[in-house]
Amino acid sequence: MKSQTRVVVIGGGIAGCSTLYHLTQEGWTDVVLVERNELTSGTTWHSAAQVTNFGMNQTMVGLKSHSIELYRELASDPDYPINYHHGDGGIRLANTEAQMDGYRHFASMARGMGVEFEVIDAEECARRHPLISTDNLIGGLWDGQDGDIDPAQLCQALARRARAAGAEVYRNTPVIGLTQHRDHSWTVHTEHGDITCEIVVNACGYRVNELGAMMGVHHPVMSMEHQYLVTEEIPAIREAGHRMPLLRCPISDYYCRQEKYGLLVGFYEQNCKTWGMDGIDPHFVNALCPDDLDRTTDVLEGAFARMPALMDVGIHTVVNGPITYTIDGAPLVGPIPGKRNAFCIIGLRAGLGEGGGHGWLLAQQIVHGEACYDTWCLDPRRFAGHANVELTALKAIEDYQNEFRFHFPNEHRPAGRMAKTTPLTPVLAAEGAAFTVVNGWERAEYFKPAPDFDVTHSFRFDESFDLVAQEIKAVQSAVGLCEVNGFNRFEITGSDAEAFLDRMICGRLPRRFGRVGLAYLLNHHGMLKSEATIARLPATDLGPERFWYGSAAASELHDMDWLTQHLGSDEDVQIRSLTNDQTILVLAGPKSRDVISAVSRADWSAAAFPWLSVRECFIGIAPATVMAVSFSGELAYEIHVPNASLYAAYLALREAGEAHDLRLFGALAVESMRLEKGFLHWKADVLTEFDPFETGLNRFVHMGKPQFIGKAALETRAAQGPSKRLVTLEVGSKAAPAHGGASVMLGDAFVGTVTSGGWGHRVQKNIAYGFVSPDYADSGTELHIDLLGDRVPATVVTSPLYDPEMNLVRT
Ligand SMILES: Cc1cc2nc3c(=O)[nH]c(=O)nc-3n(C[C@H](O)[C@H](O)[C@H](O)COP(=O)(O)OP(=O)(O)OC[C@H]3O[C@@H](n4cnc5c(N)ncnc54)[C@H](O)[C@@H]3O)c2cc1C
Repeated sequence: MKSQTRVVVIGGGIAGCSTLYHLTQEGWTDVVLVERNELTSGTTWHSAAQVTNFGMNQTMVGLKSHSIELYRELASDPDYPINYHHGDGGIRLANTEAQMDGYRHFASMARGMGVEFEVIDAEECARRHPLISTDNLIGGLWDGQDGDIDPAQLCQALARRARAAGAEVYRNTPVIGLTQHRDHSWTVHTEHGDITCEIVVNACGYRVNELGAMMGVHHPVMSMEHQYLVTEEIPAIREAGHRMPLLRCPISDYYCRQEKYGLLVGFYEQNCKTWGMDGIDPHFVNALCPDDLDRTTDVLEGAFARMPALMDVGIHTVVNGPITYTIDGAPLVGPIPGKRNAFCIIGLRAGLGEGGGHGWLLAQQIVHGEACYDTWCLDPRRFAGHANVELTALKAIEDYQNEFRFHFPNEHRPAGRMAKTTPLTPVLAAEGAAFTVVNGWERAEYFKPAPDFDVTHSFRFDESFDLVAQEIKAVQSAVGLCEVNGFNRFEITGSDAEAFLDRMICGRLPRRFGRVGLAYLLNHHGMLKSEATIARLPATDLGPERFWYGSAAASELHDMDWLTQHLGSDEDVQIRSLTNDQTILVLAGPKSRDVISAVSRADWSAAAFPWLSVRECFIGIAPATVMAVSFSGELAYEIHVPNASLYAAYLALREAGEAHDLRLFGALAVESMRLEKGFLHWKADVLTEFDPFETGLNRFVHMGKPQFIGKAALETRAAQGPSKRLVTLEVGSKAAPAHGGASVMLGDAFVGTVTSGGWGHRVQKNIAYGFVSPDYADSGTELHIDLLGDRVPATVVTSPLYDPEMNLVRT
């Protein structure tokens, strides 16, 4: 066994084997994998191992396409062939039009990744799958690439290729401890000796938190018991003369694929169970949980009704094994939050289908610092401190129960709610707030006219449309108040703070105290990493000279890691998170100056406190830091208040607002207004796949600076010209917004992808942003969007659509 290597991958299931193989493919061959038992002895060996191309965003589709290509190539290797039933085809069923809309959207989205799904009706489903009935069925989504693979052979093939490239695999070598050194390198302690390395990878499957504990972290991953049965032979299958397509059913929560000449049916029962919450037997190896088919009767009945042939056949085998889930159902693949040189590839609930792709994207991140796709949907830093074991269990159960019932836009499920609240949460609830969840925070989405008001979740405009319109009208004509909680906020101090931040951003820092600016942080490839509002505050009795760095709620751990990893050891810079201590009240609208003037003794005139100013003051008796910035495009003030004083500030503003008909507004109104103003959302429109020039952020880049992270790469990219450009589109539909991922078309040719969209109530237009080929980015270009299966006109327009001269914020 080596005592020193570059990377130690811990765990020899599909996650570890794929990572090891892809590290060698990226050129790092001095790498090892250590496995406590035999390869695949965790979950992988008993997987149903279906391999689909279906994913709910482009990164997932792209990584699954990679899996499929890789598995095809491995399966065709004459020296080590593996059983891969590729291309049996698969159907996701639907019995509501809303589900069908979802499939139409996913088909539009997948086209941008070169993947063609078909939306088919019930008769066509039955024609392609001769065993199913069409009762209570509208149709489905056809994935022609669907299939299944032998999981053990797949892992052996990956390990074999990795070994041939120079990697080493140590079986029966449990990792029993981890030590990190001052230079961020690691010693991996195993039962057979120590290995020192630069980087460790946790690929420990359901034992993820045993390894996590060795490095002092808890990963929000929970195991669930998951069962499938395999039937005896079904004569109709042999008679059909072709393999049965796979089925996935959101109506009755099962999947089904052919196994020999029988069927394998897996269940996502409502009466489901977590597994291993209080520790895992060390001897649970190559093992299964006891069968418990009684738990699955609800699902079995649905499966029998859809496939009556199941009623006439015996059960050959039942498999019940642990399967891992995370808070939002997607895996955690990437850097471990708060750690250096440590990565994970964990929480895989569809690891066979996805594992090839996850290992590929992880190896790219380890070797190059970034992957070819934006990997935020997989990033382990997307949940902050609320992601504890109890919340993870609740969300895992909910996600398991809804395995095939995809989330609708603006659908926020009930488990684990109220994880993060402010003193205003119950107050806003009493005012009728419907809440959305942002990084665990309960944030008002809109205000309901009656307690029993609810919306019908769908991909189309819903019943909240008119309510949002009214909230915006109030903001536009008078004044509105909105709580933005959880907004990420760091206080950055120290004699080197200015030089440090200047190096981190590609634009200019506010030069004077009392000023605020928007800034972008690039990675070393010159691509967009983060977006921050940076305010420069003078020394006061509240603290020394300081910068306030504000960014999206979800970016808390991501941005903290990025900033701290770039701090020089000799730099005098302190970064303190205020995220959980402060909340923003946004006061917006032409009367907002009157309201703030009534509750705060300062001079709030445009001359004394112009746009992009910041000052400390009091709102009533509440201490506050106020910024003259506006995401709505109206005259507005962002009032940052310590949570202890939040209610006091709120009461003062509400009271002063009465004279001006102040109304509360929520996140949906903000979303509509920011689209009209051309403002972007981090990780919807601001992605690591594009640089700031492609994203239309030229005014935030100052190439004249001597240095900033990503400058050299950006210069090279700028010389090459853009691959895509972000444009604003006016969409010719009153039925539905354009959802992120939808394809932008010119005739039958794919030319771009929508990043976000919605109705602009002040301009009365359906607005979308999207990245399109530069040839089609000029204003006036007539394109189409594949919107829920319809080709709707989409014209490139000049942004912003509302108050382009920015007069309102300056008045
Ligand atoms: C019944 C069932 C059906 C499924 N069907 C499908 C399907 O159809 N399609 C699909 O894509 N997915 C399916 N899955 C999920 C899929 O099997 C898993 O996502 C995948 O196998 C997880 O692989 P992994 O490598 O993350 O974990 P594992 O396979 O559990 O591998 C982790 C490895 O880490 C090792 N390890 C742990 N601790 C240590 C340590 N301290 N030192 C060294 N090594 C250690 C373990 O021994 C183990 O070998 C199914 C799962 C179940 C339970």
